[in-house]
Amino acid sequence: MSQQKGHDGKPDSNGFYGEYGGSFVPEPLRARLDELAAAFEDAIADESFKRELGYLNAHYAGRPSPVFHCKNLDTKLGGAQIWLKREDLNHLGAHKINNTLGQCLLARRMGKTRVVAETGAGQHGVAAAASAALLGLECTVYMGELDMARQHLNVIRMQMLGARVVCAKSGQKTLKEAVDEAIAAWVADDSIFYVLGSAVGPHPYPYMVRYFQSIIGREAREQMLAELSRLPDICMACVGGGSNAIGIFAGFMDDPQVRLIGVEPGGRGNGYGQHAASLCLGEPGILHGFNSYMIKNESGEAGEVYSISAGLDYPSVGPEHAKLKDCGRAEYVRVTDEEALKAFFELSRHEGILPALESSHALAQAIKMAPAMARDKVILVNLSGRGDKDVQQVADLVSSGKIKKA
Ligand SMILES: *Cc1c(COP(=O)(O)O)cnc(C)c1O
Repeated sequence: MSQQKGHDGKPDSNGFYGEYGGSFVPEPLRARLDELAAAFEDAIADESFKRELGYLNAHYAGRPSPVFHCKNLDTKLGGAQIWLKREDLNHLGAHKINNTLGQCLLARRMGKTRVVAETGAGQHGVAAAASAALLGLECTVYMGELDMARQHLNVIRMQMLGARVVCAKSGQKTLKEAVDEAIAAWVADDSIFYVLGSAVGPHPYPYMVRYFQSIIGREAREQMLAELSRLPDICMACVGGGSNAIGIFAGFMDDPQVRLIGVEPGGRGNGYGQHAASLCLGEPGILHGFNSYMIKNESGEAGEVYSISAGLDYPSVGPEHAKLKDCGRAEYVRVTDEEALKAFFELSRHEGILPALESSHALAQAIKMAPAMARDKVILVNLSGRGDKDVQQVADLVSSGKIKKA
């Protein structure tokens, strides 16, 4: 794999990306995070760690995931070519496994015997449970009560993989509360490793998650060069916490001709509580130990968020994205529930691929932009996951008349 110059996504020595990121945690937690940061640096300098991760990525997760040209969509839409990076084809159907294998390997290397994880849609919880099972670690997953209902099959999957699923019943009963409870469990017991599911949290998590997810961008860059002898003009990905987006962006960060576009969940509109577009509609603030753009309520705390996809409704976002937004290297836009659903049906009908509702947001943006672009332009969309987990929800929305089929 070609090594990119510069931009290795490494924050400054205090864990900051410009003014974002950092580590705003109480003292006992700081020692745990310092231990983690040192162990991570040590691991990624060790060829045997990288070899083992590389082996698991290839033989367990099924990497490299291919890139695919959506020729039928091209014919229908006209304009730019749309290519997908098929993270939906990984083991368990999403990009999450890239990160959980890395973190669970690190946990084992640090001598930890137990891991905790938070989960929203359940995708990270399932990936953490599987990785823990593979590597002989005990696993507890915290999940909001509302998400447990929305993604019931993933609860069963986690349990079958040997994990204990704990219901987070406070507040909005979604991802934020699950993170609160996972952190509390982690702080209380230093035999526990916290497997964090996105490029968020206090340092070194955003950096570590980016490291494990950047395999998406490294592969995609090489694959596009091999297929087209050129780079894409635009690279886009949906942004919840921002891990699949930073993972694919990492491959093109040093190619200024490649526009990077992050797509946030615009939900039902711009009103408070109707979306989870932290970068587009939020303001800087600290949540879960790091500074970034966040959605606030009237008293300045984490505000209410909403998205059709359980994997995107988090009131903050990875700090490197905040920096990329401010410096202009990446652009951030939002797509509504309705547009995402339309894209879900477009890809299903025309390419025979059921995309995750999360990924459908990125796809919707590509579908919006492609027709106005020239035929020789190329949009690369990170298809972060498959939509099998979402078919019941989509079917219910259709049968309740809340949405029309495309
Ligand atoms: C979890 C998830 C996301 C959102 O998480 P990011 O950290 O923003 O990538 C997006 N797509 C899928 C399929 C997911 O499972």
